[in-house]
Amino acid sequence: DLAQIGVTGLAVMGRNLARNIARHGYSVAIHNRSFGRTQSLVADHGDEGTFIPSESAADFVASIERPRKIIIMVKAGAATDAVIDELVPLLDQGDILIDAGNAHFPDTIRRENALAAQGIHFVGMGVSGGEEGALNGPSIMPGGAPESYTTLGPILEDISAKVDGVPCATYVGPDGAGHFVKMVHNGIEYADMQLIAEAYDLLRQGLGISAAEIGEIFAQWNNGDLESFLIEITADVLSHIDAETGKAFVDIVLDQAEQKGTGRWTVQNALDLGVPITGIAEATFARALSGSVPQRTAGRVLPANAGEWNVTDRDAFIEDVRQALYASKVVAYSQGFDQIAAASAEHNWNIDRGAMARIWRGGCIIRARFLNRITEAYERDADLPLLLADPYFTQIVGDGVSAWRRIVALAATNGVPTPAFSSSLAYYDGVRAAGLPANLIQAQRDFFGAHTYRRTDKEGTFHTEWSGDRSEIQE
Ligand code: NDP
Repeated sequence: DLAQIGVTGLAVMGRNLARNIARHGYSVAIHNRSFGRTQSLVADHGDEGTFIPSESAADFVASIERPRKIIIMVKAGAATDAVIDELVPLLDQGDILIDAGNAHFPDTIRRENALAAQGIHFVGMGVSGGEEGALNGPSIMPGGAPESYTTLGPILEDISAKVDGVPCATYVGPDGAGHFVKMVHNGIEYADMQLIAEAYDLLRQGLGISAAEIGEIFAQWNNGDLESFLIEITADVLSHIDAETGKAFVDIVLDQAEQKGTGRWTVQNALDLGVPITGIAEATFARALSGSVPQRTAGRVLPANAGEWNVTDRDAFIEDVRQALYASKVVAYSQGFDQIAAASAEHNWNIDRGAMARIWRGGCIIRARFLNRITEAYERDADLPLLLADPYFTQIVGDGVSAWRRIVALAATNGVPTPAFSSSLAYYDGVRAAGLPANLIQAQRDFFGAHTYRRTDKEGTFHTEWSGDRSEIQE
């Protein structure tokens, strides 16, 4: 019998995805560049379902029913191209090739174009949830031609995470849309993590309490609006004791954060689109700063001239930090959804932002209770220009804005760096301001570069003869 679907690339992700598909009753053809991984999957988990192993790509392709559905789960970049090049000559018109790795979306657009010309449906598919998600239900963000989702969708929805019975998988949009949305998901993940880290730092410095005590606070927060996977694991991590030293685990971890690049891609794309995603950008730069060892070493001489912490009402302070965290988090998501809207318009992807929030409720790293609120906001208004301006979010952030200001002011006064809290508040004040000092920027630009300006009192484009008689001309 032929397999219903194939998976090539059987490292942690591909192996678990293949097992997940087999456990749902589908027969799965499996293949990997080095045959050992294929053999060990059959040896270790062959009893979980129907696996059809092949050593060669030709046998693998021949073992799948037509039109074929083949998931590629290999290292992103050149490896993905190598696998595509090997498979394509073996495929038939109408077969569906799915790249489930972390591809950069411009690569996906390029691959989709090239393969469409050859009659192959190419689906760039974001998968989030790490190895655990791949096995037990990830969040799945497939792009590509809509007709491929007709065939593929039922399997993806079967193997995805479910929240209230609703699958965390849906068609995202043409060509690179799926990988794009996965990229922004990762960018938001960066912001979420940085905000949590800043909250932890404020509690630690403000209250002088232990990691375990902070862990208890996070565990409590996880019972309310902040309920999310990242808050939950933070509580878990903070209560963990290092076996070797008996100290709190976080206290023995070196404070230099690394990154694999999806945060950077998100920020680079936002710069290209001109969308201010300050929370994600600050989170990405905060990781970079933490790893800037020569600068941090040299920087130790800089005077602080900071105040001293003197928190008199412990509970009120904790509640302020919680509200500042929630408000900053809403800003980070609002900005990320703006970026999705801008890219969707630029590439004609027609992405349903409410559906993206829905499929992020389970399986993925940023899964959170409040994503329901985002889905509801876009149900109220699919074209909402600013998530913060949805009535629910306006109220919740408005209720917390005084706490947010107190926390950012305290952090500045006491010399605690809170780039994500502070920049999110600055964005909030910027986006709600009736007027911004950009009038002066425009005047300066016209002065030194004759870049022209518009007036508040009449239509048209104007330039002042700054080096001459300062008369104004209409362009
Ligand atoms: P890796 O990214 O470590 O990639 C290893 C796999 O790629 C192996 O199967 C390897 O084959 C194959 N490979 C590498 N180079 C080539 C090549 N030139 N030709 C053919 N095959 C090649 O595996 P992961 O399972 O960690 O990740 C797979 C994909 O999923 C990546 O794109 C990753 O970014 C993405 N991803 C990973 C997540 C995670 O949590 N790890 C989460 C979400 C997505 P061989 O065994 O022969 O070396």
